[in-house]
Amino acid sequence: MNTAASACPCQSGRYYAQCCAPLHQGAAAPDAEALMRSRYAAYVRGDADYLLATWHASTRPERLDFGDAAATRWLGLDVKRHVRQDAEHAVVEFVARYRIGGAPAVRLHEISRFVREEGRWFYVDGEFPAR
Ligand SMILES: [Zn+2]
Repeated sequence: MNTAASACPCQSGRYYAQCCAPLHQGAAAPDAEALMRSRYAAYVRGDADYLLATWHASTRPERLDFGDAAATRWLGLDVKRHVRQDAEHAVVEFVARYRIGGAPAVRLHEISRFVREEGRWFYVDGEFPAR
Protein backbone atom coordinates (compact mmCIF):
# COMPACT_ATOMS: atom_id res chain seq x y z
CA MET A 1 0.00 0.00 0.00
CA ASN A 2 1.41 3.37 -0.98
CA THR A 3 0.60 5.74 1.82
CA ALA A 4 3.35 8.29 1.19
CA ALA A 5 0.96 10.86 -0.24
CA SER A 6 -1.81 10.27 2.24
CA ALA A 7 -2.55 11.99 5.51
CA CYS A 8 -0.37 10.89 8.38
CA PRO A 9 -2.16 8.50 10.76
CA CYS A 10 -0.99 10.59 13.73
CA GLN A 11 -3.42 13.31 12.63
CA SER A 12 -0.82 16.05 12.51
CA GLY A 13 -2.47 17.36 9.36
CA ARG A 14 0.68 16.66 7.38
CA TYR A 15 1.39 14.03 4.77
CA TYR A 16 2.70 10.74 6.11
CA ALA A 17 5.82 11.08 3.93
CA GLN A 18 6.64 14.41 5.60
CA CYS A 19 5.63 13.41 9.11
CA CYS A 20 6.06 9.98 10.64
CA ALA A 21 7.42 8.07 7.63
CA PRO A 22 11.05 9.20 8.08
CA LEU A 23 10.92 8.11 11.72
CA HIS A 24 9.45 4.75 10.75
CA GLN A 25 12.36 4.42 8.33
CA GLY A 26 14.96 5.02 11.03
CA ALA A 27 15.37 8.77 11.49
CA ALA A 28 15.70 9.95 15.08
CA ALA A 29 12.64 11.70 16.48
CA PRO A 30 13.39 15.36 17.22
CA ASP A 31 11.46 15.25 20.48
CA ALA A 32 9.28 13.01 22.62
CA GLU A 33 6.03 14.26 21.12
CA ALA A 34 7.20 13.38 17.62
CA LEU A 35 8.18 9.94 18.86
CA MET A 36 4.84 9.49 20.57
CA ARG A 37 3.00 10.52 17.39
CA SER A 38 5.09 8.14 15.31
CA ARG A 39 4.29 5.33 17.74
CA TYR A 40 0.58 6.03 17.47
CA ALA A 41 0.95 5.97 13.68
CA ALA A 42 2.80 2.66 14.00
CA TYR A 43 -0.11 1.21 15.97
CA VAL A 44 -2.45 2.38 13.22
CA ARG A 45 -0.21 0.72 10.62
CA GLY A 46 0.42 -2.41 12.69
CA ASP A 47 4.19 -1.79 12.68
CA ALA A 48 5.28 -3.89 15.65
CA ASP A 49 8.98 -3.69 14.77
CA TYR A 50 8.94 0.08 15.10
CA LEU A 51 7.05 -0.04 18.39
CA LEU A 52 9.59 -2.45 19.84
CA ALA A 53 12.53 -0.47 18.48
CA THR A 54 11.31 2.70 20.19
CA TRP A 55 10.45 0.99 23.48
CA HIS A 56 13.08 1.40 26.19
CA ALA A 57 14.94 -1.84 26.87
CA SER A 58 13.99 -1.72 30.56
CA THR A 59 10.24 -1.96 29.87
CA ARG A 60 10.05 -3.42 26.36
CA PRO A 61 7.91 -6.53 25.96
CA GLU A 62 9.40 -9.61 24.33
CA ARG A 63 7.13 -9.17 21.37
CA LEU A 64 3.93 -7.44 20.40
CA ASP A 65 0.95 -9.48 19.45
CA PHE A 66 -1.45 -7.68 17.17
CA GLY A 67 -3.97 -10.48 17.41
CA ASP A 68 -6.85 -8.05 17.19
CA ALA A 69 -5.11 -5.68 14.81
CA ALA A 70 -7.42 -6.41 11.94
CA ALA A 71 -10.41 -5.72 14.15
CA THR A 72 -8.94 -2.63 15.82
CA ARG A 73 -9.80 0.72 14.33
CA TRP A 74 -7.88 3.69 15.68
CA LEU A 75 -10.19 6.65 15.78
CA GLY A 76 -8.01 9.56 16.75
CA LEU A 77 -5.16 11.06 18.69
CA ASP A 78 -5.20 14.20 20.76
CA VAL A 79 -1.89 15.30 22.28
CA LYS A 80 -2.71 17.30 25.41
CA ARG A 81 0.67 18.17 26.80
CA HIS A 82 4.36 17.77 26.08
CA VAL A 83 6.76 18.66 28.88
CA ARG A 84 10.48 18.49 28.35
CA GLN A 85 11.75 17.97 31.90
CA ASP A 86 15.42 18.08 31.03
CA ALA A 87 17.67 17.13 28.14
CA GLU A 88 17.01 13.44 28.62
CA HIS A 89 13.46 13.21 30.01
CA ALA A 90 10.03 14.21 28.80
CA VAL A 91 6.39 13.38 29.36
CA VAL A 92 3.59 13.46 26.83
CA GLU A 93 -0.05 13.37 27.82
CA PHE A 94 -2.49 12.25 25.18
CA VAL A 95 -5.88 10.76 24.54
CA ALA A 96 -6.19 8.08 21.88
CA ARG A 97 -9.43 6.45 20.91
CA TYR A 98 -9.96 3.12 19.28
CA ARG A 99 -12.63 0.54 18.70
CA ILE A 100 -12.33 -3.23 18.51
CA GLY A 101 -14.88 -4.85 16.27
CA GLY A 102 -18.34 -3.64 17.08
CA ALA A 103 -17.53 -2.82 20.73
CA PRO A 104 -17.95 0.72 22.04
CA ALA A 105 -14.98 3.04 21.47
CA VAL A 106 -12.27 2.95 24.11
CA ARG A 107 -10.72 6.18 25.35
CA LEU A 108 -7.07 5.71 26.28
CA HIS A 109 -5.81 8.62 28.40
CA GLU A 110 -2.13 8.19 29.14
CA ILE A 111 0.73 10.21 30.52
CA SER A 112 3.76 8.61 28.91
CA ARG A 113 7.34 8.90 30.07
CA PHE A 114 10.15 9.15 27.56
CA VAL A 115 13.89 9.05 27.94
CA ARG A 116 16.60 10.02 25.48
CA GLU A 117 19.70 7.90 25.13
CA GLU A 118 22.49 8.58 22.66
CA GLY A 119 20.33 11.06 20.81
CA ARG A 120 17.28 8.85 20.44
CA TRP A 121 14.01 9.07 22.35
CA PHE A 122 12.43 5.94 23.80
CA TYR A 123 9.05 5.24 25.32
CA VAL A 124 9.46 4.04 28.92
CA ASP A 125 6.03 3.61 30.43
CA GLY A 126 2.81 5.43 31.16
CA GLU A 127 0.29 6.10 33.82
CA PHE A 128 -3.42 6.39 33.39
CA PRO A 129 -4.94 9.34 35.24
CA ALA A 130 -8.37 8.92 36.77
CA ARG A 131 -11.11 10.57 34.78
ZN1 LIG B 1 2.68 11.70 11.79
